[in-house]
Amino acid sequence: MPGEARAGIQFVEPPIFELGAAGRHGASVAPLDVPEVDPRVALGALARREPAGLPEVSEPEAFRHFVRLSQWNYSIDTSFYPLGSCTMKFNPKVNEWAARLGGFAGLHPLTPDHLAQGALEIMVRLQEILAEIAGMDEVSLQPAAGAQGELTGLMMIRAHHQAAGRAPRQVFIPDSAHGTNPASCALNGFETQSFQAGSAGVVEPEVLARALEAAGDDVAGMMLTNPNTLGLYEQAMPKLAALVHARGGLVYGDGANMNAVLGRARPGDAGVDVMQYNLHKTFTTPHGGGGPGAGPVAFKRFLAPYQPTPVVRRDGDAFCVDPDRPQSVGKVRSFLGNFGMAVRAYTYIRELGPEGLRAVSDMAVLNANYLTKRLAETFPLAYDTPPLHEAVFTDRALEQRTGVKTLDIAKRLLDYGFHAPTVYFPLVVRGAMMVEPTETESKSTLDAFVSAMEAIAAEAEREPELVKGAPHLTALRRLDEAGAARRPRLRWTLQDSSRTQDSSRTQDSSRTQAP
Ligand SMILES: *Cc1c(COP(=O)(O)O)cnc(C)c1O
Repeated sequence: MPGEARAGIQFVEPPIFELGAAGRHGASVAPLDVPEVDPRVALGALARREPAGLPEVSEPEAFRHFVRLSQWNYSIDTSFYPLGSCTMKFNPKVNEWAARLGGFAGLHPLTPDHLAQGALEIMVRLQEILAEIAGMDEVSLQPAAGAQGELTGLMMIRAHHQAAGRAPRQVFIPDSAHGTNPASCALNGFETQSFQAGSAGVVEPEVLARALEAAGDDVAGMMLTNPNTLGLYEQAMPKLAALVHARGGLVYGDGANMNAVLGRARPGDAGVDVMQYNLHKTFTTPHGGGGPGAGPVAFKRFLAPYQPTPVVRRDGDAFCVDPDRPQSVGKVRSFLGNFGMAVRAYTYIRELGPEGLRAVSDMAVLNANYLTKRLAETFPLAYDTPPLHEAVFTDRALEQRTGVKTLDIAKRLLDYGFHAPTVYFPLVVRGAMMVEPTETESKSTLDAFVSAMEAIAAEAEREPELVKGAPHLTALRRLDEAGAARRPRLRWTLQDSSRTQDSSRTQDSSRTQAP
């Protein structure tokens, strides 16, 4: 969708294929000092018949193109990013230094064990630390995201039942859960049994007991996020786990919200059998477009035979990659997972130490509660239960009065220089705005955010069209999000080029100012 002109500035960035000119390039290649080979002779039928159609641009053209695009976007390195559930905290740059050390960054994934001892040691140490933090026995670093960690954990639960000659199908998930929970169930051939959290936003044992009762001996397990996606601590966790265990089911803990409880509560102590971490949330490894994720699974010893292979472990004084796990669910990721993420998370954890990690969670909870207290004067809280690391507000009343929708508020925040909170999630709250400040923000940032929210609420009353038309000051205005999802154009073709040919190519990288 091309951008529109605002205040005389046009933000249109053509695809890189439409920049440059034939024959232009950004690197100088040394003259050939070996005999030239005809690729059709060397490669036969595999040789390309036509040139690949790569962009032909100079170094400044390529560099400026990508830097311009990056400046149009919001990032945690440029502004406050209170996207609830995602834990968008600032990632310390020392992590990047460590991950870029030549010995780590340049290590080939097929390097034999005895030449990769340092890397394997980092992995084993991280596994041990993550097990300790969660109160679990072992960890596999293989899964590449939180969702894949869930998938892997449920595969292990299924393998556990199968080894006992059972095949129960039902997995119980409260209705506030992240959408990946039921998805992981479905991919494992389980049936999701959704049940309602109580009026305080947390699961009540009586409700779960009734739901389990109906399932009889078909209980495969329960998935529970703690603290949950409303930012509330599931106080009854040990009781809930006991109910599930009594029916032969296992307890899966979604550990995406561990940032709220580091050094304060351990899922393993509360009855969780297997869980995932999201290193890109809790342990400051890059997020989204910033890098691949990592979703290590942590589990109790009785599940160890089913963990993904190969297993990275101690071998006397050394470290090895052990493929021998006959009951394993198999490999879930190429090689040993996103190793660079393991280095970053290890660096972060070792820099902070146990006291530092506890302080992280304390500050994350303090910041969320401060913000909650101040914002609740303008936007009512969905639940009165005191939150931990994030809180869910609702703008239902404002919408009914002014017609301004949650998405309009989210877009207007961009004009004030803030990324929006998560909106319309969790699904159980109408007009939900889920705010997670994290520990890395200062009081003055939180105050500025509250002021922006208050100003937008006032605008909605006074001048609703202003908010409904937002954003006004960003590079691109309101995008057709449904269209982008339903009819994505992911590949540039010459045809696209002629379609956009008549749009102006004016580029201006100057950043617009927030009001
Ligand atoms: C983020 C999140 C997930 C999914 O993690 P990804 O790394 O995005 O796959 C699952 N559950 C909860 C509660 C989350 O917040």
